[in-house]
Amino acid sequence: MKDILPIDNQFQMMALPYEADALKVISANTLSFHHGKHLKAYVDNLNKLLPGSGLEGLPLSEVVRRSEGAIFNNAGQVLNHTMYFEQFGTANHEPLPRMAALLQRDFGSVEAFMQQFEQKGASLFGSGWVWLSQDADGRLVITQQFGADNPVRSGLKPILTFDVWEHAYYLDYQNRRPDHLKALWQIVDWKVVENRL
Ligand code: MN
Repeated sequence: MKDILPIDNQFQMMALPYEADALKVISANTLSFHHGKHLKAYVDNLNKLLPGSGLEGLPLSEVVRRSEGAIFNNAGQVLNHTMYFEQFGTANHEPLPRMAALLQRDFGSVEAFMQQFEQKGASLFGSGWVWLSQDADGRLVITQQFGADNPVRSGLKPILTFDVWEHAYYLDYQNRRPDHLKALWQIVDWKVVENRL
């Protein structure tokens, strides 16, 4: 995982690595709110809250590990959304050989992994994130994280995430969270995911 560094103590808005209308499964309308408004607010809030906190200048993952309350909520959401938006694209929609082998080893098959991941996302009560991470022994694990939480807080290395806050899908899928999660596999760029190992 590449960490995110502040510039002059300010975290920057990440730019989407694709055109807003490129993903289809996530509409340009959803992206305009989710990236343009929700993520923007988390970045702005974090930059307002950091001065005087003792956390200025730290990489984002360190801020997420060391903070609580409002700073944690905003820092977590900046990290979560950056990883989320960066992992989508218009190519590499099947796990590459190295990743496929790890998924098969730890979940039985790529399909079994996808089913478990969707199920954990669909069954998370309320707002949060479902994550695929690597533990200290290199094993892949799926976790449900509530609110702004991120697996780095539990010593895991985050690899892939689906956002199950309603703002991530409501404009396109309304209450059909499971359908949205299933559709997201069509736009995951597994090269980006594998590079996080
Ligand atoms: Mn979100």
